[in-house]
Amino acid sequence: MKLPYFGVLLLLLFGCCWSSSDAAPKSQRASSCGYASCTPSKPGVINVHVVPHTHDDVGWLKTVDQYYYGSKTGYQRAGVQYIIDSVIKELVKDPARRFIYVEMAFFSQWWQEQTEEKKAVVRQLVEEGRLEFINGGWCMNDEAGTHYNDIIDQMTWGMRFLNDTFGECGRPRIGWQIDPFGHSREQASIFASMGFDGVFFGRIDWVDRSQRKANKEMEMIWHTSNSPGEQSSIFTGIFYDHYSAPKGFCFDVVCRDEPFIDNPKSADYNVVKKVNDLVAHIKDKALSYATSNIMLTMGDDFNYMSADMNFKNMDKMIRYTNELGNGVNLFYSTPSCYVKAINDEAGSRPWPTKTDDFFPYSNDPHAYWTGYFTSRPAYKGTVRKANTFLQSCKQLHSLAGADSSADGQHLIDSLRRSMGEAQHHDAVAGTEKEHVSQDYRLRLHDSIVDCQQDVSNSFSKMLPIGTQPLPQQEFCLHLNVSQCAITESSSRFTVTAYNPRSHEVTTYVRLPVTNGFYTVLDPDGSELIIQLVPLVALQSIDAERPKSTATHELLFQAAKIPPLGHKTFYIIKTSAGRGSAIRQKQQSTAVRTPKTGEKTAVSNGKLTVNFDANGLIESIVVDGVTVMMSQNLMWYAAMNEGNSNSIFDDRPSGAYVFRPNGTDATPIAMQATLIVQTGALVSEVYQKFSDWASQVVRVYKGQSDVEIEWTVGPIPVEDGIGKEIVSRVTTQIASGGRFYTDSNGRQTLLRRRNFRPTWTLNVSEPVAGNYYPINSHIYVTDDEGNANTVVALVNDRSQGGTSLQDGHIELMVHRRLLYDDHFGVGEPLNEPGDGPGLVVRGTHYLLVNPSLAGMHPVSLIRPLAQQMFMRPWLSFSSTSLSFTNWKNNFHMQKSGLRAPLPDNVHMLTLEPWRDGTHLLRLEHIYDIDEHPTLSEPVTLILDDLLADYTITSAVETTLGANQWASEVSRLPWTTADDHQQPLKVSTQFQPVGTKTSVTLLPMQIRTFIIHMTPNF
Ligand SMILES: [Zn+2]
Repeated sequence: MKLPYFGVLLLLLFGCCWSSSDAAPKSQRASSCGYASCTPSKPGVINVHVVPHTHDDVGWLKTVDQYYYGSKTGYQRAGVQYIIDSVIKELVKDPARRFIYVEMAFFSQWWQEQTEEKKAVVRQLVEEGRLEFINGGWCMNDEAGTHYNDIIDQMTWGMRFLNDTFGECGRPRIGWQIDPFGHSREQASIFASMGFDGVFFGRIDWVDRSQRKANKEMEMIWHTSNSPGEQSSIFTGIFYDHYSAPKGFCFDVVCRDEPFIDNPKSADYNVVKKVNDLVAHIKDKALSYATSNIMLTMGDDFNYMSADMNFKNMDKMIRYTNELGNGVNLFYSTPSCYVKAINDEAGSRPWPTKTDDFFPYSNDPHAYWTGYFTSRPAYKGTVRKANTFLQSCKQLHSLAGADSSADGQHLIDSLRRSMGEAQHHDAVAGTEKEHVSQDYRLRLHDSIVDCQQDVSNSFSKMLPIGTQPLPQQEFCLHLNVSQCAITESSSRFTVTAYNPRSHEVTTYVRLPVTNGFYTVLDPDGSELIIQLVPLVALQSIDAERPKSTATHELLFQAAKIPPLGHKTFYIIKTSAGRGSAIRQKQQSTAVRTPKTGEKTAVSNGKLTVNFDANGLIESIVVDGVTVMMSQNLMWYAAMNEGNSNSIFDDRPSGAYVFRPNGTDATPIAMQATLIVQTGALVSEVYQKFSDWASQVVRVYKGQSDVEIEWTVGPIPVEDGIGKEIVSRVTTQIASGGRFYTDSNGRQTLLRRRNFRPTWTLNVSEPVAGNYYPINSHIYVTDDEGNANTVVALVNDRSQGGTSLQDGHIELMVHRRLLYDDHFGVGEPLNEPGDGPGLVVRGTHYLLVNPSLAGMHPVSLIRPLAQQMFMRPWLSFSSTSLSFTNWKNNFHMQKSGLRAPLPDNVHMLTLEPWRDGTHLLRLEHIYDIDEHPTLSEPVTLILDDLLADYTITSAVETTLGANQWASEVSRLPWTTADDHQQPLKVSTQFQPVGTKTSVTLLPMQIRTFIIHMTPNF
């Protein structure tokens, strides 16, 4: 599958040339796939694109494997292997038939089980456009709980399979997000950057939909980024109602609709009636769309297990409707052919535009799907951490010069796959059944263990200086509950912190240890200041640690960990000896319990947090300026089934829906009992609100933010009331109804309370209807354009959040519910944890700045959000070597970069790709106007990026790495606002002398397939 690079942007450095094509996106051109395979529309009639499809959830009511194999029919009658088997058989029978397939987690598994003969048949179907891949990611990802890094990875991994297997004819052109519960601007931006020509979905707010239907605005051009240019816009189509077949026309084995009975002598003959019903539906639908083309989605969840039933009846439906119907023209088609048809027809007709997003989603006045922004908070946290580890694992594999052939990557592949599954719209969304959630966690855990082995292998290659082998690296996945066997039991061990960011990082490391005297040496042999912090048991999660003997946490500052690099610390536990009294004093933490009614404060020199007589935060003093504020954990009482005494009685709060019974939250406690611990490096206030809710408020030396570590659970529900727990910060800031939230952790969007930018909101759920997904940050300021004060929360996992009053922000941290919300999952969201109910622990950074003096608030938040998102990953080994011996045998610090990248650039991806090549993504992390200098375009010399390698060739691809950037040709559209302009700044490489530079515009991500030649 090799093809010449027509118009390929081939970079030749130092006169070297690269012509191997195995590593390239495969661009086999077949004239009969893609738009060339489309059936043309006819003038003067309604052209009906009949699109057969199946929606195959990568886990929901059943696990991924249960869905694939079709087991556990008691949960759901669904077997994906049978669907693909039977669809292929039916497609072969008639060249007019079409089918689209979406989820590569399933298709790739099916493909591996096929014979060469069957594969050849499928390849032919793909090359003729009869089987078309749409979306093409590993799954159809959630858009609320996902981080952009994860979305890009899961799309890339699915499309990589398609590119490897089918070349150019396997390249998806269309986003197909038909089921996710609301739609983000960043997701659409990602699709645009992947070269997609359009995106379709089914779920938008019911009022928005009815207004769009009335105005023929079901289709539009979505401007998805603040950067101008066609790459940031995408054609967007919304379904008339759902993605299922029209009522009465589901011919699937799981449906009960009547088939076409076309023997006129039969007493049940129904052709005329069915045609009339369908034509009525088509004409109704056509009133809401702007061109003569409409799409008829023919399929539903796990449809087509007996595809002969579907196709036999669709064949008849098309034939008889074309014969008997008046003014309609039905034909098999695909979403891409539909987009091409309306693009051809519309010509220069201006399309309406959209710039905000489609959150939150509601399908009636009391069903706001905003609960899932927080559902299954522990799993959401695990997914976020797993991404950091996956990026670290991939970077180290590339930097170690390890085998980048397909076989050489098998230890990484399992985490690539299970992270792909985790992004599914019933996985990280938290809307799956409990047993499915447990399966996701197991799959993620097992693949993290594989990647740990790969990291160990990489370190074994990179760290030894001579022949002494590196001791096996071990990992501690339970540091958040102060549990790690190696640090608790070893008297001599090393901690290696790997920093996956492109900038030097200084952070604090906390390790569970038993009481004693510790010495921590940095790579220079200098002894670091340490603090031994006693473990405080406020809740069961702290008291019940059967696998741990730790009594303290050993705290030290890991300063200046090199970018894309590691730093090893050498730790010795000694017995009491000479000078031990002084040492103990230096390392110790002062513990005190304030009296009832006593005010207290902690400070780190930069900021002070004051607590009132009730033990709650009262104010924060930053640079001498006092900002009055309070913070508390509160709970909403969930609407139970039958609580509302209305026709919406069956709308309880559930896995999807957030519906509080009443309008405000109640504090868990009006007072907190406190323990204050202060020492050389950190001052902490432990706040206990109840047996199931506590916090630690920490100020670390040198940090300009406040860390709030919350622990919530088991949430009590013995009173029969489901509870949804929020952390609320209240200030006096006059925020004018405005607040700001991120979009998948990347862009920042303005929100206004009780307001939607493009339609009139009738406030029927004043709390839930103002909730938005928060993946990174939420903040309020005192002025829209020229703010003085900002208060922000940066989170460590995706959560729901809002601002219900001026100056307030809140994030929902946990929820436990007693009723199913009747949207399919069939279980109340009542996570058992270890039995009595799930306990969750997480972190918020609270950022307060009362003297912005013209600075954009986001310019302060971005570095903090990066820090939270890409925290260093720790590995451990116990050793009998002395420090000197260790230092003589192993590199104790090393950067993978020749120099840190500029402050506005992040290396989003460095991973082994195909046959000796690697995938590199460079990202500008500031948006337009966020910072006077950092928001400017930035130029990098590519050759010199890496410390131990020269990048000897680089070819730019689309964001999904499945098409050369130079070959991208997207359909042109005209918009009413004339917004669309060609990119003004060239994305071509700019030679600088003999070297090659790459310029990144604000928020731009550029993707390259590179060759790395070792310098050693
Ligand atoms: Zn679904």
